[in-house]
Amino acid sequence: MTTTDLPLLTLGRGVDPHAERGVDCPGALPPASDPDLVARARAAKEALGEKVFVLGHHYQRDEVIAFADVTGDSFKLAREAAARPEAEYIVFCGVHFMAESADILTADTQRVILPDLAAGCSMADMARLAQVEDAWDALVEAGVADQVVPITYMNSSADIKAFCGRHGGAVCTSSNAEVALRWAFEQHGPDTKVLFLPDQHLGRNTAVLELGHSLDDCVVWNPFRTSGGLTSAQLADARMILWRGHCSVHGRFSEHVVDELRATVPDIQILVHPECKHEVVTRADLVGSTEFIIRTIENAPAGSSWAIGTELNLVQRLANAHPDKRIVFLDKTVCYCATMNRIDLPHFVWALENLVAGNVVNVIEVDAETQKWAEVALQRMLDLPGI
Ligand code: SF4
Repeated sequence: MTTTDLPLLTLGRGVDPHAERGVDCPGALPPASDPDLVARARAAKEALGEKVFVLGHHYQRDEVIAFADVTGDSFKLAREAAARPEAEYIVFCGVHFMAESADILTADTQRVILPDLAAGCSMADMARLAQVEDAWDALVEAGVADQVVPITYMNSSADIKAFCGRHGGAVCTSSNAEVALRWAFEQHGPDTKVLFLPDQHLGRNTAVLELGHSLDDCVVWNPFRTSGGLTSAQLADARMILWRGHCSVHGRFSEHVVDELRATVPDIQILVHPECKHEVVTRADLVGSTEFIIRTIENAPAGSSWAIGTELNLVQRLANAHPDKRIVFLDKTVCYCATMNRIDLPHFVWALENLVAGNVVNVIEVDAETQKWAEVALQRMLDLPGI
């Protein structure tokens, strides 16, 4: 087994710069106990001025968000970076696939920097290009590939986006998955099938709850089993072929906690992200992207009660920003996205101080061929009606 065949490496250890799993941080980080970290970050950012633009994903730590020029979800951040051509350095406080998307959408003169290369995404790592190519070969063998449109969630590596571009498919976000699926199902007439990568939950929730498909229309492709663990008959009957991937954070929320909360707090409203399991989403009052969750809480009346099923850094920030509303996390245990949390103040200071010194560290660069086809898939998304 080669290194690239390993499903995951221990965070921050090992070598695989082309995958979400990351590599060792190559530099000498300042100690986390350094009382001057905030001042050092401020000084480095000031010294770089307009040359640097800092993007902060909603799931980042407060200590990092404090230095973000803009916050948002991955797609919004990539577009914001593309709209700042004067910024030579885009410091992406998020995870690897997000930095890749920013590199694809920004000018060639802009360099995208991920402060810690071990900040990957376990969901994106669940769909590797070799696995997806094997799956496609099996679909060809089963005689259904001509009817299949591959759609990948933004939370996937650049080479999976490029695969979708090459095979007539598109990218989607959690905000536009419904529109993307409607578009996909129109591509080959009534027999069209969708291969949805890599998040089975977003695919299932959107197909069933937004497009009216049944759970029986959905099958799950297991990349670790021959022919995905599916028979030719199952593939022929399926409308949605869901890749067996999930978010390790959103996959934790349970329907039992929803039921318990409803029993103990009668007026509570359950607000969840569509990466949650179907059983959780069907019990929720409202389902939507991180941007939708933020808007919903901002517009909620004072005194209202909410249990939110998304990453804990964001839920805590919402609770702190809205003390007039009762906001709780929809899980009994504390669970941050471990890889998002890799970006901390020591890594941020290290990356910025290196830029000040003229060393461009941790650059995320997508090769030209992958970029070309990933852009095709992204452009198909941008061309969708209403996007
Ligand atoms: S929250 Fe889930 S999808 Fe987002 S980066 Fe973490 S593991 Fe990946």
